[in-house]
Amino acid sequence: YAKVNFVKTSVLFDEKMQSNAVEKLQLESDLQQAINEKQLFLKYQPIVSLRTGKINCLEALVRWQHNSLGTISPDKFIPISEETGQIIALGQWVLSEACYQLVAWQKSFARDISLTMSINLSRIQIYHPELIPQIDCLLETLNLAGKDLKLEITESTLMENTTAVTKVLEKLKERDIKLCLDDFGTGYSSLSYLRYLPVDTVKIDRSFIGPEINSTNYDIIKAIVNLAHSLGLDVIAEGIETETQRDILKELGCEYGQGYLFAYPLNSGDVLATVSNNQ
Ligand code: C2E
Ligand code: MG
Ligand code: MG
Ligand code: MG
Repeated sequence: YAKVNFVKTSVLFDEKMQSNAVEKLQLESDLQQAINEKQLFLKYQPIVSLRTGKINCLEALVRWQHNSLGTISPDKFIPISEETGQIIALGQWVLSEACYQLVAWQKSFARDISLTMSINLSRIQIYHPELIPQIDCLLETLNLAGKDLKLEITESTLMENTTAVTKVLEKLKERDIKLCLDDFGTGYSSLSYLRYLPVDTVKIDRSFIGPEINSTNYDIIKAIVNLAHSLGLDVIAEGIETETQRDILKELGCEYGQGYLFAYPLNSGDVLATVSNNQ
């Protein structure tokens, strides 16, 4: 009986594996077309000051509007694009699109509204020789200040800590570009390792924030905030969905928040109105 069951499960497993592989192959070839034919677009999620409630930054989040499959989430196609190397073209498009948008929005605001853009960077992009030249070109062409740009890098990328990565990060810092450690707490680095990383901001992973902040996570968040502050870093909490979460984070001294409580990732056409209404 057990054997029959086993055979049955393994057949199901093979079918599932195969359909995953087929799906992956299809996404891989479609992605090239998507990059060429502009089926990619960006959503922009506000990051707000927990003290004032004002939007101070937008995080660019890529989406793929697939012809037959509808909108595909980056969790699905970013890993594939990293395997195939397509992340380079995709990442270059994201950087340029987000910078153009930022400058357009900055121009349409009154002078006293300051708005910055946060962009996710894959580890593959950091190792690519065109990254710094492309950024230089964007800053110059758009007359964009490096300080208005923030790049989000995950803990595991920074932990590789190779000379190659360090050199690139130094070059970004020379341009006054801000660095944010994304999904902090999910990697395997110890808290104290933070002092060796050249970042300006730490973004606490949303697994510590939701579905609610229990006492263990409360202690972890508290430790992260205190350590970050002792190193002179700002803290962002991602995935804030309730007022209770917001209030706890505010009380713990976390500077910034991001999450559905404040705003969902917005279509570009909705950003101007949202930011203006928020001032
Ligand atoms: P991330 O950088 O950690 O982005 C935050 C993710 O959390 C986004 O998912 C966002 O929509 C979601 N989120 C925001 N607020 C809430 C909330 O209150 N509750 C919940 N449950 N979720 C919330 P998204 O847009 O699906 O992006 C997933 C991941 O894909 C990103 O995680 C990032 O690692 C990656 N990604 C997105 N865009 C890019 C890109 O342009 N380049 C690269 N390399 N990676 C990207
Ligand atoms: Mg991010
Ligand atoms: Mg994150
Ligand atoms: Mg994440």
